[in-house]
Amino acid sequence: MMKCIAVTNEKGGVAKTTTTVNLGAALAEMGYSVLLVDMDAQANLTLAVGADPQEIRVTILDILLENYPSAEALWKPTKIERLHLLGGNPSLNLAERLLPHQPGYETLLQKKLPFIGARFDYVILDSPPFLGALMSNALAAADTALIPTQAEFFSIYALRNVLALIRRIREQYNPTLSYRLLLTMFDQRNRIHRTLYQYLHDHFAEGLTETVIPIDTRLRESAIAGTPIIQHAPKSRAALQYRVLAQEIIHHVEETLAQPA
Ligand code: ADP
Ligand code: MG
Repeated sequence: MMKCIAVTNEKGGVAKTTTTVNLGAALAEMGYSVLLVDMDAQANLTLAVGADPQEIRVTILDILLENYPSAEALWKPTKIERLHLLGGNPSLNLAERLLPHQPGYETLLQKKLPFIGARFDYVILDSPPFLGALMSNALAAADTALIPTQAEFFSIYALRNVLALIRRIREQYNPTLSYRLLLTMFDQRNRIHRTLYQYLHDHFAEGLTETVIPIDTRLRESAIAGTPIIQHAPKSRAALQYRVLAQEIIHHVEETLAQPA
């Protein structure tokens, strides 16, 4: 059965896109078929797998608005086996204006997901960095929200907004939605990072992943190269930790799905 993960946070620059591409690539390496969906007009996810946003003809917005030629292939393969991309381009900027005119607009993706994702084991959504129509669609459709955050005071403060949105989406559309916070760009030698890690651990005990992603400049290089870290620097610490994260997420999703609603 297909599982859907929404990688989301109201903040930009917290490693949402990095986490989407590298979690996806790690799952594909383990043998799962994966669809990455770029929901951000910046199209960073599209670039991160080496695709060209200008060549993307159909985005998730076109699918939600049923505005695409039916013969068009919706997704493309990437250079990683089993890893596919439903790409993004700047037309996604129109989403916040167009979607709210549709009836039941926050559940459009939830309704379309079986059609988009049926042939995949995992669909991973890279959401834009604001609480809007695309983010609510992602959360209404997902089994799990994965929320990357830096160990910085402002990042942790910003979590309250996305967690409030998760509560509302649960109440209205998606009662079984679970979430996990993922600490990224973590520097073990930094005292503030260690203190904030402890704070998150104490306040979000069940909501924090055991896996932490270390700061690793090879992740920056791999994004520029348009190649996921497991292929760009397979033995780096970041590649290792994204593989460990993939194991943890598989476990979490399966455990959550096994529970009665
Ligand atoms: P978002 O999608 O949340 O805006 P990105 O994934 O684009 O964030 O990451 C922001 C920047 O930080 C990018 O340049 C990315 O390469 C870099 N980055 C992400 N994770 C790490 C990390 N663990 N160590 C070092 N740089 C990172
Ligand atoms: Mg991004």
